Amino acid sequence: MRKHIVAGNWKMNNDLPQTELLLTELLKQNQTSDAEVMIAPTFTNLWQAFESLRQESIEVIAQNMHFAENGAYTGEISASMLKSIGIKTVILGHSERRAYYNETDESLAKKVDAALANDMRTIFCFGEELQDRKSENHEAVVESQIKNALFHLEADAFKNIVLAYEPVWAIGTGETASPEQAQDMHAFIRKTLADKYGNDVADSVSILYGGSVKPGNAKEIFGKPDVDGGLIGGASLNAEDFYAIVNAF
Ligand code: PEP
Repeated sequence: MRKHIVAGNWKMNNDLPQTELLLTELLKQNQTSDAEVMIAPTFTNLWQAFESLRQESIEVIAQNMHFAENGAYTGEISASMLKSIGIKTVILGHSERRAYYNETDESLAKKVDAALANDMRTIFCFGEELQDRKSENHEAVVESQIKNALFHLEADAFKNIVLAYEPVWAIGTGETASPEQAQDMHAFIRKTLADKYGNDVADSVSILYGGSVKPGNAKEIFGKPDVDGGLIGGASLNAEDFYAIVNAF
């Protein structure tokens, strides 16, 4: 049975007092849910969030990390640093990191390896741009992103991989892939995995959808058979909205 996951990516939002406030609001909403719930605050607030949620069923995860263990990489954070404060999951390959920080499938493959070497779970993000969809090239783009960054892995590694399909044209734009578009792509992704690793692996990997998921559309999107949850940006900054999405399962 695949895990349902709803992860909130706070991006570069919330200083420490704002983080404390949102954590308090989230704890008011938190209740037993069918989905694993995660939040990704910014690096400076990870420890505070981790401490506040230590006894709670909300996992604190990181938004990014470097592929090296340590060394002369000013401003970067390594997997072992994250692990040392209790972080066990990291988002890698978000489209904003690809667009603004030149992250490529090749550098992401190294980051995935570093996360796995540290027994960390990766939420691996990918997705096509608007022109790829308009030219009906979206499946080819997504297939190459997955193959280039992940297909050097052994099948066993996929127990620590969560996929997040995030069409770039739907992130932060208010524009959402229709539930049918999401389902079609998720089924395609699962088939791509099955062709390489077999059905057991393909059926066990959770595939999240990300791109303007809101309380009003979550139920329909999560209702699709190959959509196993969501990576939520904007709506994760409001505790009520975030839990309305979590409770859509
Ligand atoms: C995201 O940044 O991963 C995302 C899905 O953002 P939003 O929900 O705001 O579109």
